[in-house]
Amino acid sequence: MALTGLEIFKLLPKTNCKKCGRPTCLAFAMQLAQKKAELKDCPDVSEEAKAKLGAASAPPIKLVTIGTGEKQLKIGEENVLFRHDEKFYNPTGVAITLSDDLDDGAFKERLNKINSLKFTRVGTEIEIDLIALQNNSGDASKFSERAKEVGGNTHLSMILVSKSADNVKAALETCADKKPLIHGANAENWESMANIAKEKNCPLTVSSPTLEELADLTEKIKGTGVTEMVLHQNSENTKEILQGLTKIRRSALKKAFRPLGFPALTYIPNGDPSQEIASASAFLAKYAGIVVVDACEPWQIMPLLTVRQNIFTDPQKPVQVEPKLYEVGQVNENSPVMFTTNFSLTYYTVEGEVEASRMPAYILAVETEGTSVLTAYSGDKLNESVVAKAMADTKIEEKVKHKKLIIPGLVAVLSAKIQETTKWEVLVGPKEASGLPTYLKSTWH
Ligand code: SF4
Repeated sequence: MALTGLEIFKLLPKTNCKKCGRPTCLAFAMQLAQKKAELKDCPDVSEEAKAKLGAASAPPIKLVTIGTGEKQLKIGEENVLFRHDEKFYNPTGVAITLSDDLDDGAFKERLNKINSLKFTRVGTEIEIDLIALQNNSGDASKFSERAKEVGGNTHLSMILVSKSADNVKAALETCADKKPLIHGANAENWESMANIAKEKNCPLTVSSPTLEELADLTEKIKGTGVTEMVLHQNSENTKEILQGLTKIRRSALKKAFRPLGFPALTYIPNGDPSQEIASASAFLAKYAGIVVVDACEPWQIMPLLTVRQNIFTDPQKPVQVEPKLYEVGQVNENSPVMFTTNFSLTYYTVEGEVEASRMPAYILAVETEGTSVLTAYSGDKLNESVVAKAMADTKIEEKVKHKKLIIPGLVAVLSAKIQETTKWEVLVGPKEASGLPTYLKSTWH
């Protein structure tokens, strides 16, 4: 468990020499506890204190890196149980299964389908992270051949799923350079799997039906020199999986229990296709490092990635777009001008509807600290002065030859004040962005 400021203070030289740039050792200790300072800033700290502070400051959940290059996945190193306390840092990896016993055509088709699962949401590209290649054939050469095929034809990271250490070894001969996650070790094969993971420098999944055995196995495997591990509680029961994921996170964070201080991977119990995504979303929120799904259709994967995008944002910092004037389509001096706020979801919803209307338009994203229209209005972040300033800053007057401003219907109450302040004619738009295409076609001439 992390040390408090006072506990850290007891280990410092207490000379108040200020060499660390802080007025006192206590001030430095407090900043260290809040992770706003680094131990190396104090040149006089003893070796003994360094060892104690270093061990205590190690993250309670180990960071595990899978893959290489652009799609390298980092999981773990989380500090809180609840995202409103801080935030969740390393987004859950989403993996899709691919069986090595599919015939050549079906294998290639599914691989291509998985590779193409990319979407754009609120201006951000979202996609899956991993392909979980399953050794369902039980055959070493087949597994190796398929691992080579996947490794050479995907930008995604890989999980090699087999209970046979020999088969994993054969597959790694073709793709070890991609640093796949080996899945994995269990009570029977842990020694041989750990040796392979160490030799190839790959992270290793450890599986067991019970948390007690998982803790026992991670300690044994750590003894072989493998440090990057991912926990997998074997269960087909959604409730049991959720309880397991929560217990693992609590043990690591609240009790500093190092044997369970690793990210966790989970499979989704068999169910109908919609239930699979609902369960995966629940595990993603609490507290899976990786969720492995069979689902492969865009209508299944996009909602799951959307949940992830929402969970892994900082709840104290709304997702924002740059406050500025945006041009949608080939605008000209007669194009309509409207404003909205710079909350990403609001802005991209409006932009999408303007695109759908096929009428080029200017959208002024007004700085409201990333809050939505009504929230900004009720907090006085959206008023006639804010709108007038945004219009002046972006010189919209020089871009169009009319002086008509469409305002969101939700703040129709501001229309008189905006008109008076800006001297532009105010047109009250629809309350919902979905009404924009019809509104523009019927109103803008
Ligand atoms: Fe204290 Fe070290 Fe800072 Fe000096 S440099 S004030 S000893 S913490």
